[in-house]
Amino acid sequence: MSVRLYAMTCGWLTMPMPMLMHGTEGKLKIPVPAYFIRHPKGTVVFDSGMSMKVQQQGAKALGALEAYFDVHYEPNEEISARLAEVDMDASKIDFLVSSHLHFDHCGGNALIPNARWIVQKNEWAAASNRGTPVSKQYNPADFDHGHDRIEADGEYDIFGDQSVRCIPTHGHTPGHQSLIVETGSGPIVLCGDACYLRKTIEEMWLPARSVVHDETLMRASLERLKSLQQGGARLMYGHDPEFWADIPQAPIAVA
Ligand SMILES: [Zn+2]
Repeated sequence: MSVRLYAMTCGWLTMPMPMLMHGTEGKLKIPVPAYFIRHPKGTVVFDSGMSMKVQQQGAKALGALEAYFDVHYEPNEEISARLAEVDMDASKIDFLVSSHLHFDHCGGNALIPNARWIVQKNEWAAASNRGTPVSKQYNPADFDHGHDRIEADGEYDIFGDQSVRCIPTHGHTPGHQSLIVETGSGPIVLCGDACYLRKTIEEMWLPARSVVHDETLMRASLERLKSLQQGGARLMYGHDPEFWADIPQAPIAVA
């Protein structure tokens, strides 16, 4: 049985370095990654990139976050167009997994309308209970599109064979999750924003406090990712441009 993994860049963002690594200066242009997984029993997308509104209006579409980001997001970089490059019709995707519900991870959810949507229970609660302080960092227009929702509470084995499974990596947000994919060339972990950059884990260099929901949980999640790495897993960092430059893009498979 073979599981194929494809990486897709769904635009780029330029953002302040301190938001990625506290105490640094300047800006960094970062990729917005999404992934497609073909399993014998079905298809999975991990993170859906940014919304079409962001593609059309740029940073203006980000509301209160406008001041922090420059958006580089061209037509045909949206998730549905990226999937077409691997001959996959976005409307036929079986499962959509959201690492978390920030705009650059679930803004393309509307483009994958018929998938069952897997999100951690506490992420959904944080993002959907409007009016709380934490809910301000989420925009329901990104993610709330009536998908058949699976609220995972911790680990979630998508196909029941351990080959594609969500693991809780809370901390960046209340219910962040990562995905382990068992490929023919070994396990690969799609970290999402549990680990922005290679340096985040190699130097335990956390982002600015303002973008870390719970530092203790985030450190524990990084330790878990590190132990997976020490056990032979390859980590795919959330937004590392140097690392990303060497990752084959769809239609070429990563593994
Ligand atoms: Zn992100």
